[in-house]
Amino acid sequence: MIRAVELIQRKRDGEELPSEEIAELVLAYSRGDVPDYQLAAFCMAVYFQGLSSAETFALTDAMVRSGETIDLAGALGRRVVDKHSTGGVGDKTTLAVGPIVAACGVPFGKMSGRGLGHTGGTLDKLEAIPGFRVELTTEEFIEQVRDIGLAIVGQTADLVPADKKLYGLRDVTATVDNVSLIAASIMSKKIASGADAIVLDVKVGDGAFMKTLPDAQVLAEVMLALGRRAELDVVCVLTDMDQPLGRAVGNALEVREAVAMVHGEGPPDFTELVLDASAHLLALSDLGIDRAEARVRAERAVADGSAFAAYERWVRAQGGDPDEAALPVAPFVREVFAPRGGHGSGYVQRLLALPVGVAALHLGAGRRAKDDAIDHAVGVVCLKKRGDAVDEGEPLAEIHARDEQSADNAAGEVLAAYELGDEPPRPRAIVLDTLG
Ligand code: URA
Repeated sequence: MIRAVELIQRKRDGEELPSEEIAELVLAYSRGDVPDYQLAAFCMAVYFQGLSSAETFALTDAMVRSGETIDLAGALGRRVVDKHSTGGVGDKTTLAVGPIVAACGVPFGKMSGRGLGHTGGTLDKLEAIPGFRVELTTEEFIEQVRDIGLAIVGQTADLVPADKKLYGLRDVTATVDNVSLIAASIMSKKIASGADAIVLDVKVGDGAFMKTLPDAQVLAEVMLALGRRAELDVVCVLTDMDQPLGRAVGNALEVREAVAMVHGEGPPDFTELVLDASAHLLALSDLGIDRAEARVRAERAVADGSAFAAYERWVRAQGGDPDEAALPVAPFVREVFAPRGGHGSGYVQRLLALPVGVAALHLGAGRRAKDDAIDHAVGVVCLKKRGDAVDEGEPLAEIHARDEQSADNAAGEVLAAYELGDEPPRPRAIVLDTLG
């Protein structure tokens, strides 16, 4: 019988635990033999004491072993690429990357998650599309990747159940933002879902778990090390989350923006990130091309309409209606104006991602509690972003709301996210660093 209290105490006191003991604890928790309160205490001890690289690997490995694994590459007879984001505001990258990569002839089968807190989740965005089914069986998932080249689904209950349980626990015990716990959570899911190569989008800034570039670099290094131990090719792109990605924040609004990008009409930061991530994935695939050629092919798939055709095929295959007109629309749209009597004309110095994400959450685009229903139509469109010139009284953003009262509340929150000034701020690239 595992003595969980002893492990908690030894970790609390800074001891490095042997791999077998970490595995025993995690697997016992996953089976229900160790209660939430003991794992919560253990996570808090880890939060303060950290885990060594051997402990982090043991945790990741045990999480993988807690459930079934999928051999997607074996089933397809192809090298399989995957991507994952550490989570941010307005991050609809997967919705555009999937069709582009598939249009270039590389199978893309991805298991995605739901939003938590102020960060949005790909599954919630997909469910904004009428009829779209995110729950496929493992067989349906593999078949669709084989036939259509693209499937994006929810994680099945049998895949890394320890992470599912542990993530929910961390979310309510203030233990999400620990490098080892994040790295093990992400990498266990990627290893179990059978990819050969992964592009990890590590978000950095106000709206991300990692607030600074050095912290994000540490997380990236830990995930690269876990990838090496599992014999996976991993590339980490560290990208800006100091402001929302693109303009749209909110489920249906983000689907519209992703479709616009696939048509070649996306906002510049979002377009750059999608093309960069797509090029990494194509270069890691079995096409045998370098990144420069991969970038050319990704751009061509957008320009010649094949990426949009892949989008339509994919959405239909999962039961959804790819027509943009079918997406839900919020009944109230209210503009947020740059204040008068202030700066005259000027520039957006900052547009904080976190308050915009929280405003979208308060509008109903996200969940405050795990089982809340979400409103797919509502959200925020940031018309002005960092560095944009703005005149007094000009619209900064649009609020898409269910009613007038929630629109007014969100307008105040979004206005507070903007910092205006006389001089343009220093430009900040969307891709801040690339490792691996
Ligand atoms: N995303 C995950 O999948 N897990 C974490 O712990 C954080 C972000």
